[in-house]
Amino acid sequence: MQCSEIQENLSAYLDGELDPAGAAELESHLEGCESCRSELESLRSTVELVRSVPRVQAPPVLKQRLASATSSRKPVQESRVFWG
Ligand SMILES: [Zn+2]
Repeated sequence: MQCSEIQENLSAYLDGELDPAGAAELESHLEGCESCRSELESLRSTVELVRSVPRVQAPPVLKQRLASATSSRKPVQESRVFWG
């Protein structure tokens, strides 16, 4: 497998989404390839950083307000402007 293919699969590998055969192939490549190993390490530290931050979710009410605010916005009607 090419390094580019390996690196495309690294995030799936970290998430445990690779099938066992693919994971084994990736691991055997990592053993012999320093650049892919360092790529994996930097990806892993990024993933761990993201996971360590508590996930903040917007309250549903706020989401609804945002949705209605964006969908009900109407263009300004210039015909309402009177000049005396
Ligand atoms: Zn490689």
